[in-house]
Amino acid sequence: MPDIAIIGAGFIGLASAAALMRDGHHVTLFDPSGVGQGASFGNAGTFAHYACIPVNNPSVFSDLPRFLLSNDSPFRLRWGYLPQLAPWLVRFMMSSLPRRHEASAGALAALLGHAQDGYAPLLANEKLARFVRPRECLYLYSNGASFDAARAALDLRRKLGVAFDVLAAADIRALEPSLAPIFERGVLFNDSWHFSNPQDFLQTLYEQLAAQGLKLERTTVSAVRPFADGASVTADGNERRFSHVVVATGARSAQFARQCGDSVPLDTERGYHVRYPGAQQLISRPVGWAERGFYMTPMSDGIRIAGTVELGGFSETRNRSLIDLLTFSSKRALPALDTPDTNWLGVRPTLPDGVPVLGRSRASERVIYAFGHQHLGLTLAGVSGRIVADLIARRAPPLDLAPYAATRF
Ligand SMILES: Cc1cc2nc3c(=O)[nH]c(=O)nc-3n(C[C@H](O)[C@H](O)[C@H](O)COP(=O)(O)OP(=O)(O)OC[C@H]3O[C@@H](n4cnc5c(N)ncnc54)[C@H](O)[C@@H]3O)c2cc1C
Repeated sequence: MPDIAIIGAGFIGLASAAALMRDGHHVTLFDPSGVGQGASFGNAGTFAHYACIPVNNPSVFSDLPRFLLSNDSPFRLRWGYLPQLAPWLVRFMMSSLPRRHEASAGALAALLGHAQDGYAPLLANEKLARFVRPRECLYLYSNGASFDAARAALDLRRKLGVAFDVLAAADIRALEPSLAPIFERGVLFNDSWHFSNPQDFLQTLYEQLAAQGLKLERTTVSAVRPFADGASVTADGNERRFSHVVVATGARSAQFARQCGDSVPLDTERGYHVRYPGAQQLISRPVGWAERGFYMTPMSDGIRIAGTVELGGFSETRNRSLIDLLTFSSKRALPALDTPDTNWLGVRPTLPDGVPVLGRSRASERVIYAFGHQHLGLTLAGVSGRIVADLIARRAPPLDLAPYAATRF
């Protein structure tokens, strides 16, 4: 069988490789940075099958001005990037209107409904399953008014099939006694879990696939070109032909879509993490702090504090005040924390409606898109890989793919 090329070796590219190899395909991965070095490297590690409410939601209209102007806000804009971002931002605001938001939430919930099944073939493998920590995620509100403001979103989650329990302050302290007594309300999302280390999971997955013949070429792809019975990838000036090409380059995917006839308004939601080494015993599960926009996740090497949203493209410059916000807020939540030893910036790939692109390109059915997974790339990796393999095998995917088409823009 001729080779399939996958561009991008993050959660989406690796899960696609695994699904295609299960179907007996030979796969070549292209990525200059190696395995899991993009947004997949430093995320919060949560399997968030409950997270069907995208950032673009009706509360944005009241919250955004306050968020953008406050120093305590976990939501920021790099003002110098505004001229480039403006068209995306307008679409983002439009997709926050109630009816459009409900459509996005419905599309996300439908996909998330298959997220656990999507992971099943990967987690059937003992060496991969050992990275899973089956502890339900706890999401907290330090202020009763914020919890009240979140009720509409919680009601919509419930309507879309998400199961959760609402907790009072005493329940929260009983579950996680090391937390400061500053949280008034909480939500415990049933059946969620987290990875002890997302990057180690991906590296192990890669090693297993490499042992079965997966090739990795550490090079930057500059072009994808469809032709009659296949598609090509150009890297280092060489054009190579494949039976299919899968675009899984996260936030860098719009250029390849353009080459294949699709204009997708993909931009970034930058996010940060700080790590407290050796502190993982302080909490037993991922704990999110709603007002501060981050998760505290116990991982194999410490507690990772990951989150915030900064609209600002690809600039390498880190926003010190967001790193400081993560640091002082996490110490307020968990007073026993000491000093973080490292920080990280990653770029979430985000379409303005918050829904990923999964499907064939306009120019050719030989080019498959799998990108734009915003805050949910780890969670949706298994089902996205399965959809990629279904499309190439011409099998029916587990759900109608119309809401995820690149042509929706
Ligand atoms: C702070 C933070 C916390 C998060 N927490 C969670 C969470 O708890 N749960 C969850 O589900 N998701 C979470 N996410 C989101 C998740 O990390 C992303 O959605 C996911 O990593 C996207 O995976 P990807 O494979 O599409 O992209 P990436 O991981 O970015 O991979 C894309 C790859 O493409 C490669 N590439 C780019 N251009 C080229 C080119 N021209 N040629 C070859 N290769 C190229 C890059 O080197 C990169 O390795 C979080 C994100 C952040 C930033």
